[in-house]
Amino acid sequence: MVNLPSSPLKEFFVDDDDEFIKEATRKRSYSEPCWCGSNIPYKKCHRVRAEQQRWSLGKILNKQRKVFWKKRGCMHPDASPSSCRGMIIDAHTIQRKGPLSAIVDESNHLCHLEADLQNQVFELKSIGWKKASIFPGFCSHHDTELFKELETKPFEGTNQQCVLQSFRNVCCELYKKRALVESLSYQSGVLDNGLDIHRQIEIQMSINKNIEGQRKSIEELEALQNKFHKAIESKKWDSFECKVFYFRGNVELISAAAIQVDYDFDGNQHVDLFDLEDDAESIVYTTLTVDDGGALIFCWPREFSQAKKFVDSFDAYKAEEKGDVFAQYCFLSSEHTFFSKNWWEKLTESQKTRIYDLYRCTFYEGGKFIPSIEPLVDWVFE
Ligand SMILES: [Zn+2]
Ligand SMILES: [Zn+2]
Repeated sequence: MVNLPSSPLKEFFVDDDDEFIKEATRKRSYSEPCWCGSNIPYKKCHRVRAEQQRWSLGKILNKQRKVFWKKRGCMHPDASPSSCRGMIIDAHTIQRKGPLSAIVDESNHLCHLEADLQNQVFELKSIGWKKASIFPGFCSHHDTELFKELETKPFEGTNQQCVLQSFRNVCCELYKKRALVESLSYQSGVLDNGLDIHRQIEIQMSINKNIEGQRKSIEELEALQNKFHKAIESKKWDSFECKVFYFRGNVELISAAAIQVDYDFDGNQHVDLFDLEDDAESIVYTTLTVDDGGALIFCWPREFSQAKKFVDSFDAYKAEEKGDVFAQYCFLSSEHTFFSKNWWEKLTESQKTRIYDLYRCTFYEGGKFIPSIEPLVDWVFE
């Protein structure tokens, strides 16, 4: 079975010999850059941090939201001041027409899980479909032009459609990682106000580790985005391998993500994500609705052999097991997982508990995905 860690966040053990701690505790002149890595002179940064006023969590979250959701430019391969037209618009990672509209209730709302940081819990949240799975990633001209093949034609599983859909997921993931690094950098300037030096070091160290890890995955995503740019510019849709699984049943759950292949469905480890020397391969997945059910797309650069093994390990499940295993995987791996209220209300308490357990983990430790006794979805794969 999948091994979920006891603590949802990765814990690091450090001793007093750690370079970061030595730097933070050694004598330092006022004009030297601060030990926290802010590039601000020590006298204006952590020398006075303990005397600064504490910020409420609400205030931090509010400011952080603004830092996170700012417009960061158009992500079209051709983007430039002369080729972009119109405003940067909120692009949907998951198609609005079709998948999102299939799961909305009478008031056009759908559900997802969200961390409530104030109360340290995960909760079921309702969200208007216009706000679900969006990111401000393309100018209106490029958004319309680039995704035409996807938005104006029925899904036929062509490589072009799969690549375009996957490109949008990659851009969304990249946007959010960049936004996260900026908001973490922002947090590092206020989160430890008024705290003693020991807590300051703990907080700064954990933010620094997080940023370091995020930067690494940004590098990998940028390399992947580059491969998409090349394929789009030269229309070489075959430089990506796309595997489409069709299924019958109610599409009451939808999900999309660009993920790093650390473990496959059998629990084989392909890369250690916490070892920054190790390079991970990525794979992109999306769920869509089709005429009498849904489709699940996996897309990866043709030369990625681990990504292929990942998909093969999924394909090895029986037709009636695939939907449930995939649903478990979605909650574990993607925050872009949405579902209908109706579906959630039909779940048993033990199914809900299982979903919360999967969702709260920011990482997992391998182990094979075992189909649930009570399947989470009724999908039957072809
Ligand atoms: Zn500092
Ligand atoms: Zn543009």
